[in-house]
Amino acid sequence: MSPEYPENTRILLRLDLNVPLQGTTVTDTTRARLIAPTVRALRQRGNLCTLIAHLGRPKQREEALSLRLLVPILEAILEEPVAFVPDVLAGEAPSHAGCVLLENLRFYPGEEANTESFAKDLARWGDFYMNEAFSVSHRAHASIVGVPALLPHAAGPLFLSELTALRHVTEHLIPPVLAIVGGGKISTKLGVLRNLLKVVSTLAVGGGLANTLLAAQGLFVGTSLQEPTQHQEAKKLLEAAHQQGCTLLLPKDVRVRTASGEVLLCSVEEVPEDAAILDIGPETAQRLEQEIAQAGTVLWNGPLGRFEESPFHQATERIFRAIAAETQRRSLVSVVGGGDSVAALNVAAMDFASFHTVSTSGGAFLEFLEGKELPGVQSLGL
Ligand code: ADP
Ligand code: MG
Repeated sequence: MSPEYPENTRILLRLDLNVPLQGTTVTDTTRARLIAPTVRALRQRGNLCTLIAHLGRPKQREEALSLRLLVPILEAILEEPVAFVPDVLAGEAPSHAGCVLLENLRFYPGEEANTESFAKDLARWGDFYMNEAFSVSHRAHASIVGVPALLPHAAGPLFLSELTALRHVTEHLIPPVLAIVGGGKISTKLGVLRNLLKVVSTLAVGGGLANTLLAAQGLFVGTSLQEPTQHQEAKKLLEAAHQQGCTLLLPKDVRVRTASGEVLLCSVEEVPEDAAILDIGPETAQRLEQEIAQAGTVLWNGPLGRFEESPFHQATERIFRAIAAETQRRSLVSVVGGGDSVAALNVAAMDFASFHTVSTSGGAFLEFLEGKELPGVQSLGL
């Protein structure tokens, strides 16, 4: 599917500009770079583009999360001036600018509440709505479902390619299917873990999620990130895996850091009292490589360790490389999704093209894998 671009129209373009920040510094511009071809294609057809997006999770105006900070980045990427409109409700599009960026939509309560009045406030900025933010599809917000009810609309090329790839993969899973799930908190991923058990032959868990599963089994995990309130759910998950004949792989060895900053490798049975598990160890990584070598499909969400801090990126990088190599060698169907997972791909300097599909979406990707209908997909009639 390739999109049909409108011509000589005022386009309201919903983007994913939810870039990671440290203070007011953008630490990864992947999301902004990905949308450049779409904006350029629209501009080349004589369209005026009003770009709309959210940043972070403000409940009201919060200057540190103003989208103004993206103006220089977008101007450099798009190679044209971008006019900033600080007030979505009162502002007007400057007549000279081909590209306008509206303030963070989440400064307005009507966005998350999906009020009709806020949808109308947004709709007046364009005559045609295009959604290029597949990653926000799991949210029934005004800019995702309210506006397309008011304007002629279409999905943008990134949105379509992400949706098409995910649909294709999930409808034609080539067995055996291996899922790898890492990341921080198991509470945010229980739904997808439960659902994956039904479709995969092996589920490998790493990151903070694995810590919770290990602790629920009575292992001592020191000062590791884990969720004691989720132990019951974790046990149920282990039981469900057993009943469904799904192999659940937990780390056997781990890389830890002690209170004094020492980095050690140890077995999960021997985690020192003052140490935190921050990555899976080489023995576990090797076991995962064996699974990858046999898999027909690999679905991956969530880094296996605290990849932001060296050396705890090591296992994640090693497994990325193993999957990329198998994808190139024998067309393994490999899908990597998640905001931090993509950040980890960048830390490892991996080429997205070495995988079958890379999705920058976090929540939407997970809800898609859970088999839920996404409101932002339905609102476009897809
Ligand atoms: P995604 O955005 O790809 O879905 P998550 O948001 O679930 O991934 O998780 C990413 C975060 O989990 C990262 O910040 C990473 O540092 C953290 N993380 C992974 N493993 C660990 C661990 N063992 N201890 C602490 N944090 C971890
Ligand atoms: Mg994340």
